[in-house]
Amino acid sequence: MRGAEHRGTVASYIPPLASVPVAKFGLAVVMADGSVHAAGDAEEAFSIQSISKVFALTLALGAVGDQLWNRVGREPSGSAFNSIVQLETEHGIPRNPFINAGAIVVCDVLLGRLQPREAIGQMLRFVRELAGDDTISIDEIVARAEQETGFRNIALANYMRAFGNIHGEVDLVLGTYFHFCALAMSCRQLAMAGRFLMGDGRVDGHRVVTGKRARRINAVMMSCGHYDNSGDFAYRIGLPGKSGVGGGILAVAPGIASIAVWSPGLNEAGNSHLGQMALERLVQRTGWSVFEPRG
Ligand code: GLN
Repeated sequence: MRGAEHRGTVASYIPPLASVPVAKFGLAVVMADGSVHAAGDAEEAFSIQSISKVFALTLALGAVGDQLWNRVGREPSGSAFNSIVQLETEHGIPRNPFINAGAIVVCDVLLGRLQPREAIGQMLRFVRELAGDDTISIDEIVARAEQETGFRNIALANYMRAFGNIHGEVDLVLGTYFHFCALAMSCRQLAMAGRFLMGDGRVDGHRVVTGKRARRINAVMMSCGHYDNSGDFAYRIGLPGKSGVGGGILAVAPGIASIAVWSPGLNEAGNSHLGQMALERLVQRTGWSVFEPRG
């Protein structure tokens, strides 16, 4: 991208992410009228990683409603995505569903009613339906690599189990979590899947969530979607967004557009460096912001 001094650093904790070329860049914008604008590598599937936490949260709220908030908070953590520090003083209750600990609890909640295979199937059906695209899949190589190297996540899950906030078998909960992280989607598919958050919770006349729930998921994305970088993202971009270490970001301009951007180089907080820059330029040019006075 013109004006960018560097592209950030590609995640290196697993080989399938480390081998993604840093030069990749894609952007897709789905407007409220259904029109799609795509550029660069917008059709290439990448590992959505923590962006899946948005879809997992939506499924868990659908399953247990507001009871979910007894087991996970909705405050920004101010810490890294895989941090364990707050869990001790906060009795195994993660700050929010968008850090790893919180998403692991969300998986455990889903497994309260489903077997791991069913929960993974439900997730796959959900994102396929949201995106209107049956070709979306889970990258088993990524899932396996996550499992083999996920010592921090294993520690987080066991630690929360010790506090009684993981009810199921740690291995099964993590297996589900790792498969969610391993969802592979293109910018176009991701932007399409985010449509339910830009309106009243409906997609193509079909209700996914209530309008109130869509607004609340957006609120959590705005305050917690970029870990300890969330305040900066809100300041610079002014839209709810969720990032993943694969370099993707899903952002929502309520009433206007669902946006997905992908560039695998990350900043120190594990968020796409160029992805954030691209979103910043997009909102500067369009004026899109949830803080824009209307009316
Ligand atoms: N698979 C990664 C992990 O669990 C996801 C983290 C992320 O995308 N920030 O560590």
